Formats: sequence, structure tokens, C-alpha cells
Amino acid sequence: MAEPSLAAADVVVIGGGVVGAAVFHELVDRGVAVLLVERGRAGLGTTAWSGGIVRCYHDDPTLTARALAGWRYFQEFADRTGVEVPFFESGFLYVPHPSRLAHARSVVEGAPEAPMEWLESAEADLRFGHLLNRPVDGAVWEPRAGWSDPIDITRAYLAAGRRKGGRVLEGVEARELLRTGGRLRGIRTGAGVIAADRVVVAAGADTPRLLDSWGVPHDLWAQAVQVELRLPDGTVKDHPAYMDDVHDVNGRPDPESGGMLLGHPTGQRVDAPAGGLPADPEQTRRAVAAGSTRFRWAARSTSLGTLRASECYAPDAPHAPDSPDATTAPARVAPVPGETGLLLATGFNGGGFKMAPWAAGEIARLVTGR
Ligand SMILES: Cc1cc2nc3c(=O)[nH]c(=O)nc-3n(C[C@H](O)[C@H](O)[C@H](O)COP(=O)(O)OP(=O)(O)OC[C@H]3O[C@@H](n4cnc5c(N)ncnc54)[C@H](O)[C@@H]3O)c2cc1C
Repeated sequence: MAEPSLAAADVVVIGGGVVGAAVFHELVDRGVAVLLVERGRAGLGTTAWSGGIVRCYHDDPTLTARALAGWRYFQEFADRTGVEVPFFESGFLYVPHPSRLAHARSVVEGAPEAPMEWLESAEADLRFGHLLNRPVDGAVWEPRAGWSDPIDITRAYLAAGRRKGGRVLEGVEARELLRTGGRLRGIRTGAGVIAADRVVVAAGADTPRLLDSWGVPHDLWAQAVQVELRLPDGTVKDHPAYMDDVHDVNGRPDPESGGMLLGHPTGQRVDAPAGGLPADPEQTRRAVAAGSTRFRWAARSTSLGTLRASECYAPDAPHAPDSPDATTAPARVAPVPGETGLLLATGFNGGGFKMAPWAAGEIARLVTGR
């Protein structure tokens, strides 16, 4: 007996996080018949836990170019989608490791189109010394960086894509890939079969497990990202979003709570689906210790909670030829080799919000050839 057919489309997108939603909207915009399936409610996986920071500087000029595309898109979000979502312009301060100062400066100078400037030690001290426990040797300053609300952005992408003719099914889980004679012909979901020649997997931290269950080789894994929400004991004025590679901390102010987000890499692989995880108190201790070395406000701050969620990671790849000692996270936004019609949009190693517009453009280019 033939299986019940739920729908047909040119492309099925699996996953309604910010990445899947951006891909969905971009494909619809380019005239592709797209259907997105989301196991739960769209935007409430890992995306719901995200700080939503959008900044351009990356150690790798290729990633800087991708992030710049994302920043530009978020600046024009209302024009691109027809939906207004505020972008909070806090600025972004990046403190490179002393061994990477010359490289960081060369990335800034090599991308004059990006809104980034190089600050010498004295200038950084003049502008940000009131926040810092110790001077920095140099820094990258992005006056127009900031953040948007990741849930609002995701739902806005979906609303815009629906309005332009795309279909979204929530509470529908993708289970199997359907192939005939090696050719992809769609997916089996909990609610029936969806016919499509192309499938984009944007399932975040669920991606490694999905690929395993389909027998598709990969090098991805799920890892915890944990960010503390700290309340300083006094007023902290004019604090930008930040990343500091000397003490491995990152974050931004959170005007909603009056607190500060403070993240520190966990290095912890997890076996968990996309979305929130229970906090690790030891990681909280490490983050506050690292934050306190850099920022005056951190040592005497108190907890307003912890944001911890799973994220899809891809292995770092060798960096640009001029700096062989560093590595970069390339993401997996590409066709799966040997699996015609199957594409991945994941592996952002904790930075997928800002990269979602670039990823959507890249998938659309791969699908439409333009
Ligand atoms: C605490 C924290 C702070 C962060 N801060 C930043 C930041 O400031 N800036 C930044 O750029 N990035 C940040 N990130 C990273 C960024 O949030 C993620 O890279 C991004 O949200 C990942 O989006 P996604 O769409 O890939 O995943 P998700 O949002 O997890 O979406 C995947 C979706 O797929 C669905 N799904 C899974 N399996 C199936 C299935 N079989 N069928 C149907 N649906 C399925 C899930 O339910 C989920 O909704 C942060 C991450 C965390 C955890």
C-alpha cells in the first residue's frame, strides 16, 4: 500500500531554528517551493538560548566576510523580510591574544568595507579602561555591532516566508530519508511522507544523530555552550558586546535584566537534542573567574541564572595560509558528498546566529545555481 503523502515541495528544510528559518525565507524569496518541518515549536531549540550577537571580526578573513554579510542583512532586516525586528547597537570590543595582535590588525586593515577599526593600547584604555581590570595590548572596535532577539528574528523569517508562499509544519519530526535507486525523493515524517528532490538539514545539535540514523558519514558533534547572566553590584555604563581571547570570555549587556551575559568555552561534548540543558555549576565558576580577570564588574556580580544549550560543532580547519598556527571553524553549509540532493546547514560552533543570513544565501546559491 502506498504511504500517505503529506505534501510535496522542491526543497524540504529540516529544523526551524534561526538557520533553517533563514534558509526557508531565502529559498522562498528566490521562487523555490519550500516546506520547513520543525519537530517542536520553531525558534525554541538552541536559538532560543542565544545571545544574538552580530559582529564582523573573525580571525579568519573568510569568516569575517560571512559575518559582514550577516551584519548587513540584520541592518536591512525589515527591508529584506517586511518584518521589523529591533537591532540593538551596543558596539563590540574584541581583545586578541597578544600573539595574534599583528594578525588581528591585518584582518581589520584587509576589510575596509567592514565597520571595524583597530585600537592601539592607549586608545583602547582611554575608551574602555573604566571597564577593564588590566590594560589591553590592542583591540578591534566595531561601533555598529550589536544584537537582535533570536526568537523574534526566527519567527519573523518564517512569517515572511509564509507570506511569500512557503509552508511551515510545526510539531512534525523528520525521521527518514527516502531514496529510490540512490536518488533522494523526500523524507518520512511522523505525519506522513513529504516528496522533494532536495533536503536541507538545519537540525542544529540533532544533526549528528540524524545523520548517524541515516547511515550518512560525518564529522559533527553536539557540544554545550554556557553563558552566565550576572548582575553587577553597581551601574555599568556604556558596556559594549565583547570577546576576549586572552581570558576566553564573551558576552554583552542585557538591558532587559540589567545584567551582563558572560560566556566561557565549555569544551564539553553532550549527547542531547537541540535546545536547553541544565546548568553546570563548575562551568559557572570557571566563567566568573575568567570574567573577573578581565572586567571590574564581574568579580562582585551575582547570578541571575545560566543559559546552557547544545550546539552543533564541526572540527576546526587549518587557518589562512599566512597564519598556520591558528584554526578556524568553517561550519558545514554544503552538499553532503556522495548524497545527491542532501545539503547541510549547521556546525557553527557557537556562532550560528550571526552567520544565518550568509548560510541562507549559500544554500540558495547551491539550490538555484545563482
Ligand atoms: C547560550 C548560547 C549563546 C549563543 N550566543 C550567540 C551569539 O551571541 N551570537 C551568535 O551568532 N551565535 C550564538 N550562539 C549560537 C547560535 O545560537 C546557534 O549557532 C544557532 O542558534 C543555531 O541555530 P540552528 O537553527 O542551527 O539550531 P536550533 O535553533 O537548535 O534549531 C534546530 C531545530 O531543528 C529541530 N529539529 C531537530 N531534529 C529535527 C527533526 N528530526 N525533525 C524536525 N525538526 C528537528 C529542533 O527542534 C530545533 O528547533 C549561542 C548559542 C548558545 C547556546
